[in-house]
Amino acid sequence: FLSPSLQAKMSRPVQARRLEGIDKNIWVEFVKLAATYSKVNLGQGFPDFPAPDFLTEALTRALGGGNHMLHQYTRAFGHPALVKVLAQFFEKLLGRDLDPMTNVMVTVGAYQALFCCFQALVDEGDEVIIIEPFFDCYEPMVKMAGGTPVFVPLRPNPPKDGKLMSSADWQLDPAELASKFSARTKAIVLNSPNNPLGKVFSREELGLIAELCVKHDVLCISDEVYEWLVYDGKQHIRIASLQGMWDRTVIVGSAGKTFSATGWKVGWVVGPDRLLQHLRTVHQNSVYHCATIAQEAVAQGFQRELMLYGKPESYFVQLPKELQQKRDWLVQSLDDLGMKPIIPEGTYFLVADISPFKSDVPEVPNSDEPYDYRFTKWMVKNKGLAAIPLSAFYSEAHKNNYTNFIRFCFAKEEATLKAANDILQKWKQDKTS
Ligand code: PMP
Repeated sequence: FLSPSLQAKMSRPVQARRLEGIDKNIWVEFVKLAATYSKVNLGQGFPDFPAPDFLTEALTRALGGGNHMLHQYTRAFGHPALVKVLAQFFEKLLGRDLDPMTNVMVTVGAYQALFCCFQALVDEGDEVIIIEPFFDCYEPMVKMAGGTPVFVPLRPNPPKDGKLMSSADWQLDPAELASKFSARTKAIVLNSPNNPLGKVFSREELGLIAELCVKHDVLCISDEVYEWLVYDGKQHIRIASLQGMWDRTVIVGSAGKTFSATGWKVGWVVGPDRLLQHLRTVHQNSVYHCATIAQEAVAQGFQRELMLYGKPESYFVQLPKELQQKRDWLVQSLDDLGMKPIIPEGTYFLVADISPFKSDVPEVPNSDEPYDYRFTKWMVKNKGLAAIPLSAFYSEAHKNNYTNFIRFCFAKEEATLKAANDILQKWKQDKTS
């Protein structure tokens, strides 16, 4: 037995200070609720349809083919076949020469790419501007790096003609955005197309951000994981291609989103060596590299897409076409019930207005739980339909202004969306009967 004095020593805090305040995570609770209650899960963002055959066949070939070295370590900063084809691809997209060894790095999903960016580029006391609503990991990642997140919201301007809102109706106030830049600002995080709204930033909006970055000598972490998922003929514009931006931008991408294979966890960064060299240091000293065999298969996927670039058979042409149809189905189903959808210009997410349902959802006594959280929990338990509350994508200071919305993911099989429609139709009947 330990003496009481030795036992007392064991009770010192074990948690590193950098984790304070970031140990709660929305996904743990909502993924569990969906698993327990949902008949149809439109919550977490991943497709329930298969990855394309050419990709899974490439993986099978890599697995069973003659090259047993694909089961061993590869180059830390990216399997040569993958960084080479990514460099070729992005040369085309950005209209500039790229060195596969210094301008590209492969990461364990876009998630680790983001982690490398913040760890490598943000110091104690630095401010990082985050546009709300935002993919929720940006905030804890900035904090873990010792930085201070500074939030600026996209503000909704509902159309006057009674039409459904579009994600384009959510805009930055230029004066408000400019007021967030200071001598302490080290970086801004841009996510276009944006999760959760589906907003695709216009050239003018990107121009404004770029101008402020150049004026204040600020870096841009540009999360472009949904770059191929853009609808209605809209164009995804890469901020790195705007004047003065290449040298200060890190582009973040994801094979999970690009090839509908989120479980593979292959991501990348593209950018100037002067920034990427520091990301390489973080990567080398944390995960070292991403599974060789997955990188090899993704490389083959990109080789195919490079050959078919812009052609109707290209997956990057076909996938958005299919998803646009799915978006339109879900828009229709939600609108029918009176849950007003905000039509997304990109991504596979859709935000809907739940304010007309306030009287359906019971108040929870002595709870300050926001309405969108209560609604989402009520919906999954009573209707079997899972979604995510929008205020989860806001900072503590602003979340109370955005509690009338929830986010759905429509990267789902036709049968899943039909089942969701059945739930919504029955709900409508119950309401009117
Ligand atoms: N950025 C955004 C905006 C995302 O939505 C996601 C995944 N939901 C990621 C990054 C992470 O991507 P990956 O699965 O490749 O890590």
